[in-house]
Amino acid sequence: MDCCILEPGIFYYGGPIVRVLLFLAVAVASVLVGCSSDKGTQAQSIQIPVKGDPLTFVANTAGDESGLPASLFASDREWLIYKVGFATEPQERVADMVDAESKNAAPTAEATTEVKTQLTRFKMDSQPVADGGSVVFASVNNEDVILQFKRSGQKLFLDNIGSTREDLSFRLPEFRVHHYSIKQGQDAFSVLFSFKIEDRSFLLAYYFTAVKETNVLTQTLSSAYNFLFGPGVKMAWSQERPLNMKICTQGTLSHYKDLATKAVAAWKTPLRKRLSLTSQEVKTPCPPFSDLNTQTIFHVKDWVKVYDKMMAAAFVPAIPDFHRSEIVDADIFVLEAEWNEAWSDGTYKMDDSLFYGHADVQSAYSETLTHEMGHVLGLHHVFDGNHSVMSYSNVSYVTSYDRGFVQELYPEYEPVTAP
Ligand SMILES: [Zn+2]
Repeated sequence: MDCCILEPGIFYYGGPIVRVLLFLAVAVASVLVGCSSDKGTQAQSIQIPVKGDPLTFVANTAGDESGLPASLFASDREWLIYKVGFATEPQERVADMVDAESKNAAPTAEATTEVKTQLTRFKMDSQPVADGGSVVFASVNNEDVILQFKRSGQKLFLDNIGSTREDLSFRLPEFRVHHYSIKQGQDAFSVLFSFKIEDRSFLLAYYFTAVKETNVLTQTLSSAYNFLFGPGVKMAWSQERPLNMKICTQGTLSHYKDLATKAVAAWKTPLRKRLSLTSQEVKTPCPPFSDLNTQTIFHVKDWVKVYDKMMAAAFVPAIPDFHRSEIVDADIFVLEAEWNEAWSDGTYKMDDSLFYGHADVQSAYSETLTHEMGHVLGLHHVFDGNHSVMSYSNVSYVTSYDRGFVQELYPEYEPVTAP
């Protein structure tokens, strides 16, 4: 398990007072592609190890199983795949992953460019068929993986995932699709699905972004800044559309809404005239994290931590579109069980009124969310001594360094207005 690592922005707590700062970046390999030694399969997959059921990460969400328009799969279109998900991992395997991960720094600009050129490309492999028939979406530059779709009317439904390699030829057991999503503009789509292999459960989202032949990933920004995909690597939200964070209060989060709202608002001033950033409480079930049109702050109640000594208070998987230099999706997961344990062995329950009465807890919560919002916007960690909410030095607000950091990624922007 030494491949496929990319830092999604994970924030660790080591206890009530001292913070042990470790990336988890999260290891890992595609189960489906296997951990090939071929560099072509690297860094296209983030798989977060969990103890227990990965479906806890989509609890209280509303999926959409209505398929994908067949028109997305026109035979002349190619797509890059990027995978994010959760898998039940035995503790001993996780220890190895963390060890491997701690040796990995953020990807460099060169490494990121390399990743971009090596991501697996997919293309429709078989001719459209009549209703009830199946069609295959297969990798173009890597023979390993095929996605088998069934057609019904103008829609395609993912039926299973297999491999063309003999040693990997299988159909995934207990395969179930939970959610399909298409980004506005149709340059990206995603499928969220789960399956089981023996006693391991998997919940994976496959994200596809449309290939553009021109390479727009260039290092045009100041490499003094450590962005999420490498120093100086531009990967940011489109400035043409507002970024509206949904604060999903289904479940227990409702009385923390204010802190989440504040964390989003903390970035509004530096982004004025650059990116429209808003937040909104959603009381009905939010779509799951794989949804490309909804960016959400999720509160995960039943995450069971995999480590004895380390805890992840929150993390952000961010999905890049390397051909457009755009972040196409990012969501924040706040992990309640970790919070309970991080703070005085559970004295301060997240749903306890003590939370609001305790300034330290409240400020740490704000700080975490403000930090995670920085990841959502495309910022990576700041470990060079600069005073930043993206450091691990108990900075709870957006500093003047952070203003320059985020403004480098989002230059002043004049929306194009209709004549
Ligand atoms: Zn972080």
